[in-house]
Amino acid sequence: MSSAHHPRFRAFTPRDLDGLLRRVPLTDDQRLALRAVSSVLPFRTNAYVVDELIDWSAVPEDPVFRLTFPQAGMLPPPDVRRMADLLAGDAPRAEIQRAAHEIRMRLNPHPSGQLDANVPVHEGQRLTGLQHKYPETVLVFPRQGQTCHAYCTYCFRWPQFVGEADLRIATDDIAATGSYLRAHPEVASILVTGGDPLVMSTEVLRRYVEPLLRIDTVRSIRIGTKSLAFWPYRFTTDRDADDLLRLFEEVVASGRHLALMAHFTHPQELRPPVVREAMRRVRDSGAVIRCQGPLVAGINDSADAWAELWEETTTLGAVPYYQFVERDTGPQGYFGVPLARGHAIFRDAYARVSGLARTVRGPVMSAMPGKVCVDGVAEVAGEKVFALHLIQARDPDLVGRPFFAAYDEGATWFTDLKPAFGASRFLPGLEAG
Ligand code: SF4
Repeated sequence: MSSAHHPRFRAFTPRDLDGLLRRVPLTDDQRLALRAVSSVLPFRTNAYVVDELIDWSAVPEDPVFRLTFPQAGMLPPPDVRRMADLLAGDAPRAEIQRAAHEIRMRLNPHPSGQLDANVPVHEGQRLTGLQHKYPETVLVFPRQGQTCHAYCTYCFRWPQFVGEADLRIATDDIAATGSYLRAHPEVASILVTGGDPLVMSTEVLRRYVEPLLRIDTVRSIRIGTKSLAFWPYRFTTDRDADDLLRLFEEVVASGRHLALMAHFTHPQELRPPVVREAMRRVRDSGAVIRCQGPLVAGINDSADAWAELWEETTTLGAVPYYQFVERDTGPQGYFGVPLARGHAIFRDAYARVSGLARTVRGPVMSAMPGKVCVDGVAEVAGEKVFALHLIQARDPDLVGRPFFAAYDEGATWFTDLKPAFGASRFLPGLEAG
């Protein structure tokens, strides 16, 4: 083990919210509003985030506080009032849950076709714990990996965590997954995702990963995780941290590319020495760390934050990968940044970092047709336009073809955009949302 200090993981849930918020000068009404939000959208944090990442002297502006603690603006004011009244009046649990469910259904819980267009069918069976959107990539959602060490307030996968089974994507049918992949040799890359698959013990993770090593057509395995930011001890002193790194080594020794798709939101998450130690250990296993995260209002909507994040992760041997646009779900109205402003932040940060960090692509929308990248704002034939292209697409023929949308300063998502020059569609086969 690399450290004599073995911290134990300790989660905080909505029950602990009042106690945690005692550190912040809030009125009773403000506190109640935050409880109201946490009865609709998920809240979970842990002692590491609270004690090591949040700078309590900077709360409520502190970015990691905003990243993990509810804020009143995350829901429309009438919804906050309604939930606050129910909580203040000690309404029965069933009534609170009914009201919360109604509000959730208005928050577009599964955007971009996740519950219909992306679910593969194999031998007459819908494989609801898999997503197959792009020909060469399949996402696997292990049943035991559908929580996180802490929840991000802006999470686009929030329906996984609200205890509503119908909203959840998950599988433990490892045999069906293997059978599907054998029947689809075009699938070269598997993304194990969640939630956060690294909340699972190594033993359980191994049950999902090992069978993939027996499928020759699978050439790369990615693990989507925020554990480096929210619980880096997963890679250093946890009981099975060494086993996890052995598993990584086995994947690499099989001749496959193993990528830890590490979700980082703000450079503050990189400051504790344990994160650096965790990254070193992961890299020593032969895995590549690729970093991605969304641009979110009030947390990281500045070029300073992104330039530092990309430069620092590069220094630590990781590869900046995507800057995402906040998805059209949940509290997007609160955290979303207009595409025009988002691109200006991206460009400003990109211009400041070394060529090594310019592996990053963005801002990128994971939209219905695919991953749409905003390349910039330009004037073409006298019209102000957004220039865009698809990095990934359901229809591979659309990948890499430039297209133009009429400039709209307030647009926050692909569906807000209209084709430029009065055209009826963006490209043959690519309609407006
Ligand atoms: S780590 Fe990812 S899945 Fe988990 S709460 Fe954050 S955004 Fe959502």
